[in-house]
Amino acid sequence: MKGKIILVVAGHPDDADFGSAATVAKYVSEGATAYYLICTNGARGSRGHKIDSQRLARIRKKEQLAAAKVVGVKETFFLDHADGELEADLHLKEEIVKFIRKLKPDIVFTHDPTWVYDIREGIAFINHNDHRKAGIATIDAVYPLARDLASFPEHIEEGLEPHKVIELYLVSFNNPNFFVDVTNFFNIKSKAVLKHKSQIDDPKQTKDWLKSRLGELGKQAGYKYAEGFIRLVLR
Ligand SMILES: [Zn+2]
Repeated sequence: MKGKIILVVAGHPDDADFGSAATVAKYVSEGATAYYLICTNGARGSRGHKIDSQRLARIRKKEQLAAAKVVGVKETFFLDHADGELEADLHLKEEIVKFIRKLKPDIVFTHDPTWVYDIREGIAFINHNDHRKAGIATIDAVYPLARDLASFPEHIEEGLEPHKVIELYLVSFNNPNFFVDVTNFFNIKSKAVLKHKSQIDDPKQTKDWLKSRLGELGKQAGYKYAEGFIRLVLR
């Protein structure tokens, strides 16, 4: 990982930490430089508690910065789109392409946009709109938009060059094909996730959930704790 650059594109403040914080911390410990790009302001993540949405957005930004510090992320950027209303339109794609061309990541992490819903042990889940839209916009930004000279020629005028990302890691809950042994980075992940205080009612319950989730993924690969991804190596 020495000299590698990582960009994590997430829908909300907290998604990057829930999805890939242990792997990113591991890669940083091996010499990579990591950046977070958060698409929405998270202003609706109040779980029914009465809180002013502008105030919540400010709190969530602070929590994300604190979590990123725990992970060892060099810089966190916020696009500040409205929570719950993210669209994978050309505007969002252009914003992501610009960060890709500026930061020149070797590896981009984002959400698996193909996951729309799931039923696990009788419990149904819907994957949030902002996760799916951030995921699809990021995939489109990686290929072909960031790579092609003809996409967003105004970037070229600003001195940015086209950039080819080598690897995509899609955070996958259903069918990961690549497991990262994060046994030694579980504590960092848990500490980072718990920085998102406004999103967590019971820290012990969240830590137990992380243990069981990462333990379950680890079991599939012979590790104590793992994070799971669909990993695409682009040639
Ligand atoms: Zn989220």
